[in-house]
Amino acid sequence: MIRMNQIYKKFNQLEVLKGIDLEVKRGEVLAIIGPSGSGKSTLLRCLNRLETIEKGTIEVEGEFLVQEKNSITTYTDAVTAKMILGKMGMVFQQFNLFPHMTVLENLIEAPILVKNMKSGDIIPVAEQLLAKVGLLDKRDVYPSRLSGGQKQRVAIARALTMKPDIMLFDEPTSALDPELTGEVLKTMRQLAEEHMTMIVVTHEMAFAREVANKVIFMADGEIVEQGNPQSLFANPQELRTKSFLQNML
Ligand code: ATP
Ligand code: MG
Repeated sequence: MIRMNQIYKKFNQLEVLKGIDLEVKRGEVLAIIGPSGSGKSTLLRCLNRLETIEKGTIEVEGEFLVQEKNSITTYTDAVTAKMILGKMGMVFQQFNLFPHMTVLENLIEAPILVKNMKSGDIIPVAEQLLAKVGLLDKRDVYPSRLSGGQKQRVAIARALTMKPDIMLFDEPTSALDPELTGEVLKTMRQLAEEHMTMIVVTHEMAFAREVANKVIFMADGEIVEQGNPQSLFANPQELRTKSFLQNML
């Protein structure tokens, strides 16, 4: 379970998150949609501690990354934070693969460095994950030789080598040519079917409708509307949601 309560975040004077509450249960897929600049990436980055918040509570599987103690926002100690952050894998819009490493080297880097795993132990795991995303034959090539969709599937496999309980995706298909989005969405759909807990920021409305258990529509740093995808897409209640969805279709 992930719980974020009353999250506030500013960049200088700009209020980017204005009291966000959300909850994701184990095995659920949460889709976050909303216009550019609404704070979707910032929200994910706060969850993963790539950004810090000014105020609020973030709880991951019973541990608090940050909480209010006597009205002071307090981050947990480094050891607990590392444990919490180790539960989460993240995939970005830009694939962020290491260009000077082969596909396999990209996958085994973090388990070896962060978890002190032996290459003999992690290589079979990495190969299994490459097979899962359909790219075992690319094991020894460099990222520059891959298509965008292949790079993104490698990025997903790389995140999975750390055995996360939760996967965060920030518009994983929006840098791709349209014909390459399907293969990445298929991999994500497969993860959802295996009951991976996922938070997915996406512009892919069909994916959100079919795969997500819950959809949040954000605008201007607030959650404007949320609900199950069937009702939110078919019958949005708020004007801002309606006009956003109309522009998307
Ligand atoms: P998009 O759909 O375009 O990715 P988003 O919903 O992910 O948009 P964010 O990237 O979270 O939006 O940005 C929210 C607001 O915060 C924007 O106004 C953005 O300009 C601002 N912002 C984001 N990162 C920073 C930063 N590092 N420094 C200053 N302002 C930032
Ligand atoms: Mg973004």
